Amino acid sequence: MQQPSPEQVPGRVTSARHHDMLPLPEAREVAPGIWKFTLPIPFPLRTVNMYALVADDGWTLVDAGIGTPDARVAFAAGLHKAGLSIDTLRTIVLSHDHPDHIGLSGELHERSGATIYMHPIDANNMRFLWQDIYPERFTQVSHFFRQHGMPIGEPWFSQASPEQLHNIIKVPPFEEITLAEDGQYLHLSGERYRVIWTPGHSDGHICLYRERDDVFLAADHVLPRITPNVGLYSEYDRKNPLGDYLDSLRKVSTLPASIVLPGHGEPFKDLAGRVEEIIEHHEERESQIMNLLDEKPQNAYQLAEKLFGQRLKSNESRRMAVAETLSHLEYLRIDGQVEQHKMMDGLILYALV
Ligand SMILES: [Zn+2]
Ligand SMILES: [Zn+2]
Repeated sequence: MQQPSPEQVPGRVTSARHHDMLPLPEAREVAPGIWKFTLPIPFPLRTVNMYALVADDGWTLVDAGIGTPDARVAFAAGLHKAGLSIDTLRTIVLSHDHPDHIGLSGELHERSGATIYMHPIDANNMRFLWQDIYPERFTQVSHFFRQHGMPIGEPWFSQASPEQLHNIIKVPPFEEITLAEDGQYLHLSGERYRVIWTPGHSDGHICLYRERDDVFLAADHVLPRITPNVGLYSEYDRKNPLGDYLDSLRKVSTLPASIVLPGHGEPFKDLAGRVEEIIEHHEERESQIMNLLDEKPQNAYQLAEKLFGQRLKSNESRRMAVAETLSHLEYLRIDGQVEQHKMMDGLILYALV
């Protein structure tokens, strides 16, 4: 089971200032029949995008933001600007199970009766994490981080009461979700979209592709300016998230996308170029890790401190940095370049082979 990952990406931020200039709330048509709503989120990425696929007889929502008070205000303003109402919401597609993409899904489903599509892996993870909110579930996995050297810290959501948390993140019952598989076509608002399973950022992450005019709804798989967080969060998830992610990048890099609609940040055009940059970033990080391990065997937390340094301000960003470092270490281990040493004190060290 994966712990929830708000989008606190400790990766490369090439232009942090840009965020401060984004006006909120924002809603506008970014491709024929597709509106982008931008909502504020209480995580360092600051905002998340939802997309409305609009037709005369109803509309589809891709991703469901989060239910904080200011996000609700922004969503209501966006709906108003786009001339949409919850009554005519027919379908909700959830790209993955992170809290800032699913938060309003349960409530919107209840109010509209909309069909919900999600990949089976993330639908299942979402059920265990968010359907019934048991804070103790979240802490179960802290053992995983402790053995990789991370001092124990409270996760962000543990400060909220279950009621408060339900207001912010409320998901539909698992039984209400229609599972969407790789390669399947969904008929959404009078158009045909292909589901592309892109594991990496989350195990059950999906993108949507409208072949008619090559519109690519990338969610968090390919983001502009920011490298999506790819982390190993527990022993129960897919074993090689970075390997998955790089494969998933190659899977989409040759799509002739006319526009990429990301889960955070602004739409962009050069999909192949952006994929190339992200792959280069991971290669850079890989050689940094190899150099650090060349000095001496170390645990994932020690490595993360050296790699991410100043940016590890909160428990949450530390956890994500360790998870990201682990995704590299496991990628290298599966590739035969590093190995694990289990120490007497329970800590796991990594060393060059
Ligand atoms: Zn996101
Ligand atoms: Zn995400």
